[in-house]
Amino acid sequence: MNFELVKQFIKQAGLPNYRITQVKEAVYKSGIASWGDATALPADLRARLEKEGPILSFTIKKMVFSEKDRVAKALLKLKDGLLIESVLLKPHEGWSVCVSTQVGCPMRCSFCSTGRMGFKRDLTDEEIADQVLMWFQYIKKEKLGERISHVVFMGMGEPLLNYLNVVKAVQQLTDPDFLNIGARHISISTSGIADKLHKLAVDLPQVNLALSLHNADNAERSKLMPVNRRYDLDELQKALDEYLALTGRQVFLEYAVIDGVNNRPEHIRKLGKWIRGSRFSYLLHVNLIACNLGRGEKTDDRAVQAFADALKAMGIGVTIRKSMGNDISAACGQLASKN
Ligand code: SF4
Repeated sequence: MNFELVKQFIKQAGLPNYRITQVKEAVYKSGIASWGDATALPADLRARLEKEGPILSFTIKKMVFSEKDRVAKALLKLKDGLLIESVLLKPHEGWSVCVSTQVGCPMRCSFCSTGRMGFKRDLTDEEIADQVLMWFQYIKKEKLGERISHVVFMGMGEPLLNYLNVVKAVQQLTDPDFLNIGARHISISTSGIADKLHKLAVDLPQVNLALSLHNADNAERSKLMPVNRRYDLDELQKALDEYLALTGRQVFLEYAVIDGVNNRPEHIRKLGKWIRGSRFSYLLHVNLIACNLGRGEKTDDRAVQAFADALKAMGIGVTIRKSMGNDISAACGQLASKN
């Protein structure tokens, strides 16, 4: 929601300041989806807001829900007609929202549907924060109980290439007057934009960082993730060490296991070596996920478990993450690229 615009309307109508509080209550506590439901507000103001100040900066084009995994996915139409997607999931107590930060993505990771769509534009801070607001409304409407406890910036796009809007969106999401999500419950995932990590540590030191690694061999990672040609593994490690020195916080290394491609013994050995090469290796934790290959297929669980066992034997912290929503195309970009 463009809160500044709403405040302006209230001011122009000569209404007292407590109307601003009523707007916040209606939108961020009650989760109204239409201004018509904000019955505490004067009818004139409601009518103007309905026409000129929509609560969300996009419309919902399609919504799919996987009963099996408790994952909902929305396809959203922005004001300029472009499409993005956003996901609600329940990996633990409370709901998690996965937000997109760009329309498409310029990073062209070979395993990613969004990467194949190309890049259209950055999302505004409002379009990013509104995805969480939309799911908040959905939870209220469907009476799903529990609040949104986590927000992950892991949807379409590379968050650190839309840096300012991402920082502003995080500031809004953590504002006690708005959705009041704890900064430590927000995670930003990057494909490895090394030169932004220092600034991120200064601007958002409480927010979690996840780094999509997927391969610890420079030549192979470059093929999988072209970003590696710009910031190779040495540069990434240097930037990561600086980040860790400033924040002292655990960083998650995301590794999508693609059977036969990045899970051979030499891959595991190189990953272990790269992690131990860090001055703060004890702060690095590997998240393994069975890669969702589309069409309902994914890497076999046994192959992922074998990878995890090998890392554990090297004394490296590792967790196997559940791959959710295979039946509703929940890997990033799969729904939007189908449409
Ligand atoms: S994996 Fe992330 S960074 Fe890579 S192309 Fe997809 S959206 Fe972009």
